[in-house]
Amino acid sequence: MAKILDGTALAKEVRGEVAAGVSEMGRKHGMTPGLAVVLVGDDPASAVYVRNKGLACTEAGIFSETFLLPSATPEQEVLELVAKLNRDTRFHGMLVQLPLPEGMNQDALTEAVDPAKDVDSIHPYNVGLLVQGRPDFVPGTPAAVQQILLRNGYDPAGRNVVICGRSEIVGKPLASLLMQRQLGGNATVTVCHTRTRDLADVTRRADILVAAMGRPRIITADMVREGAVVIDVGINQMADPSRKLGYRLVGDVDFDPVSEKAEAITPVPGGVGPMTIAMLLVNTLSAARISIHGR
Ligand code: NAP
Repeated sequence: MAKILDGTALAKEVRGEVAAGVSEMGRKHGMTPGLAVVLVGDDPASAVYVRNKGLACTEAGIFSETFLLPSATPEQEVLELVAKLNRDTRFHGMLVQLPLPEGMNQDALTEAVDPAKDVDSIHPYNVGLLVQGRPDFVPGTPAAVQQILLRNGYDPAGRNVVICGRSEIVGKPLASLLMQRQLGGNATVTVCHTRTRDLADVTRRADILVAAMGRPRIITADMVREGAVVIDVGINQMADPSRKLGYRLVGDVDFDPVSEKAEAITPVPGGVGPMTIAMLLVNTLSAARISIHGR
């Protein structure tokens, strides 16, 4: 049976490191890092994510405030709020929770956030720095995947990493991160998507397989090489009448059969998810440090 890569325990460790950094900043500079979260609309999953981010901030000693706007809010008003938060010195980090309501221009809002406060690291300026291997902030989910690997002794250097999914927030930045010529990088990276021919043939060549497709249990045991390390980014709702909510969360990986073949695997929930939030705190602390010391 595969070793379970426990993201909850690891996230606790990282949050502890952030809390120590936050209290040191308070002692040395009399400053508290702050995070502003903008949530437009009433998407229930987003509301849960935003609440969890707020709780994690509070626990680590980071000041955070969530700005809730109804889904019918005109885009101009959201842009004005972002501009106001850019100027607000209480907040060193800011994020606009995605997805935005239908019809709202995601690119415009992403670009409106001051790159120095862009702790989700999705502003084109920060994307560029990541590609060049000199990021101020590594986006949360790719950073979570990299830290899960490194902190469990799976240095990606020299390994064949196959990433299934090429989204702007997971697949693309993760590929960039893992191919950099630096610690936590140096992997040989292959990125798959819906136009990939014979996906199983590619995934079977992976020493490290990352699933980020948003397709429940699509990675089956026959697609995984014996002894591979499997990181499941997917979070999917699957109907389950035995649960109070009527569903449960499953990943993109068919966990039980794959865990009989893999050397190590992340569970869903309790894998990449909690680590993603922990890495947001890391970025908020970094943003506060940059505001003091510069880049
Ligand atoms: P996304 O924007 O929907 O992108 C999905 C990607 O997967 C696309 O590149 C798509 O290819 C590819 N894909 C979909 N079906 C495929 C198939 N059958 N074969 C090959 N490729 C396929 O998704 P995302 O935002 O990256 O999220 C992916 C999953 O991760 C979701 O379940 C999401 O909830 C989860 N997630 C988790 C966290 C976390 O903290 N754990 C964070 C972010 C996202 P095309 O480009 O060709 O369409």
